[in-house]
Amino acid sequence: MDFSLSEEHIELQKWAHEFAEKEIRPVAADYDASEEYPWPVLAKAAQAGLYSLDLYLQAQADPTGLTLPIVMEEVFWGCAGIGLCIFGTGLPLSALAAAGTQEQLMRWGPAMFGTPEQPKVAAFCVTEPQAGSDVRALRTRAVRDGDHWVLNGTKVFITNGGVADTYVVVATVDPELGHRGQASFIVTRDDGGITPGKKEHKLGIRASDTSEVILNDCRIPLDRVLGGMERLEDKLERARRGESTGRSSAALRTFEITRPSVAIQAVGIARAALEFATDYAKERKAFGVPIAQHQSIANHLADMATEIEASRLLVYRAAWLAASGQPFPKAEGSMSKLKASETAVAVTEKAVQILGGYGYIRDFPVEKWYRDAKIYTIFEGTSEIQRKVIAQALTA
Ligand SMILES: Cc1cc2nc3c(=O)[nH]c(=O)nc-3n(C[C@H](O)[C@H](O)[C@H](O)COP(=O)(O)OP(=O)(O)OC[C@H]3O[C@@H](n4cnc5c(N)ncnc54)[C@H](O)[C@@H]3O)c2cc1C
Repeated sequence: MDFSLSEEHIELQKWAHEFAEKEIRPVAADYDASEEYPWPVLAKAAQAGLYSLDLYLQAQADPTGLTLPIVMEEVFWGCAGIGLCIFGTGLPLSALAAAGTQEQLMRWGPAMFGTPEQPKVAAFCVTEPQAGSDVRALRTRAVRDGDHWVLNGTKVFITNGGVADTYVVVATVDPELGHRGQASFIVTRDDGGITPGKKEHKLGIRASDTSEVILNDCRIPLDRVLGGMERLEDKLERARRGESTGRSSAALRTFEITRPSVAIQAVGIARAALEFATDYAKERKAFGVPIAQHQSIANHLADMATEIEASRLLVYRAAWLAASGQPFPKAEGSMSKLKASETAVAVTEKAVQILGGYGYIRDFPVEKWYRDAKIYTIFEGTSEIQRKVIAQALTA
């Protein structure tokens, strides 16, 4: 066992950190205030190779699994809202990689990112007004009509929903089969019948677009179902016969693989808050001494640092389990998401406390990190759902 990062990983970390420091931090507060999509930052990220399919391919080839966690921690240290614009396409890309054929991956992977000159983004559409944690309750329907699928339904809270060109949409093909009757489809803006609805105004991660996506008689060719028609028909047939399709264990594994990537985003926010609060505590004086010398403030800093280190180690281990193709017997991916998200909320709250009144006003970035952190206990599976998954793994 060796905890040191390789030369390549250190280089990667420096590269991502420099981008975050130079291109993201200086504009983070402005995008937070305006709630505009940071296209100029995304364009720079695309030109630098930070927003690219290549980065994901490079990450895939890293046997340690650390490429993405290392890069993402730095980017989210810069700003989580902007970070989600740079890494939001990773979510539909993961869905495509998990369920699509090699041919579909080659065709739609590059389309999701566009080109460095004209970057595009993609969205993953699962959640509906009545179906968030309970994805079995999805009502969006995909009905076959000759050589086409026709999709109808409303998705809510979709990251990049209002700005994407390519969408991966989860819809029900056979409602009688519950979640086993669902499939994922590739839809593009050019197909027509897919339109962004209401853009949400949020507590935090305000640079990130979160919108409704409305499917109204959206007609797409049959080959847009991920995995292809033959695999879908085979899966539905087996479900109708009551046989196992292996789908739920494959879906659970996919979540275990993707959750560490979300967890490290929370680590990035928490580290930003710890660094700022530490510097502040060394400078700010109360009762004649820097507040860092008051034991209760020192204890806060110690707890914050310890929790962040523990979270990062859980992420690194889960990423390594994923990269080396090992099982997740205790839902270690979910553990990393649970721990890191709750750490980010606790650490940013303590950072506000350390800054006192200055933590609460917008002149300092700490209140933004506090707002940004909260989403991590909600999206990509709430904390309650992570605990449920971990407990189920333990008692299986
Ligand atoms: C900013 C943002 C971005 C998002 N991006 C996307 C996206 O890109 N794509 C997408 O598809 N979705 C996205 N979502 C949706 C997100 O994943 C859901 O909001 C989340 O899964 C929770 O679903 P819900 O809001 O319907 O809450 P509910 O499922 O209604 O949950 C409400 C409460 O009940 C608890 N609860 C529910 N079921 C259980 C249970 N079985 N046991 C214990 N507690 C339970 C929950 O933990 C929560 O505390 C996004 C949401 C937000 C806010």
